[in-house]
Amino acid sequence: MIYSLKDITKNYQSRNGPVRALDRLTLDVQPFERVALLGPSGAGKTTLFRLLNATLRPTSGTLSFDGSDVGAMSSRELRQMRRRIGTIYQQHQLVPSLSAFENTLCGKLGSWSLLETIRSAARPTKRDTEQAMAALEAVGLADKRNARADELSGGQQQRLTIARVLMQDPDVILADEPFASLDPALAESVASLLLELVQNGKRTLVATLHDVDLALRYFPRVAALRDARIVFDKAPSDVSSEDLDTLYSNDSESEVDLRANSDFQEAPREFKHKQHRAR
Ligand code: ADP
Repeated sequence: MIYSLKDITKNYQSRNGPVRALDRLTLDVQPFERVALLGPSGAGKTTLFRLLNATLRPTSGTLSFDGSDVGAMSSRELRQMRRRIGTIYQQHQLVPSLSAFENTLCGKLGSWSLLETIRSAARPTKRDTEQAMAALEAVGLADKRNARADELSGGQQQRLTIARVLMQDPDVILADEPFASLDPALAESVASLLLELVQNGKRTLVATLHDVDLALRYFPRVAALRDARIVFDKAPSDVSSEDLDTLYSNDSESEVDLRANSDFQEAPREFKHKQHRAR
């Protein structure tokens, strides 16, 4: 098991009192799985994402990564874990003034010492150069290697983020709304590229998505969060329109649940519901 989450609860302290972002969530992810995480705004997707990349700790429950309890890891072990996880964000987080090639090399940053970083920035090793070129090739940007990141189109920039992650060579890729800034046709081609690279590279992918169509068409497993809980977790062919209606409907039960729970003072929660496209 690459991830095993047992009874994970995450509470935040907000000005209006505590907010429960995840409520006794249990979830396993096997190596090489490709999982789409769906859910309306406020469902807890970002919180789960941050737990998975170990930038946030749960309030209670156990999170294991590749068999090790993350809560019991030393800071060195946590760093090693984070190196095995590559992240892709909606905002590309590229360095605009650096070339596509240099941005790709940056994928190595996590595993470089400061000295190696300085050396490599000035003159990358033959191996790093080859690896970066292979990554650019894989995403179809070899001919753009000398172009500055800010000269690339939106789709090319997102492909460059994928090249950078490939350079890191992680076991797990966590992607937070990786296609959200792209128009539908581009989103489709980048999604198909990412899923193919993940499958061929024998990596695990967990991606938060708001586009239900993309999730159902490209991911073999779709997990849906609502009101801090998993409401379904299944193959796309088993996801019904009732499942989706329930997921995105406007009545929020958890508000009632939370207020009825004596642990909590009344905590306003915002739910902006995104329409899902009919299949
Ligand atoms: P999603 O990514 O699905 O929109 P989030 O994980 O961002 O959901 O948020 C889940 C809930 O936790 C929401 O009610 C949100 O307002 C709340 N929340 C998220 N981050 C914080 C924080 N830092 N402080 C207080 N409340 C937060």
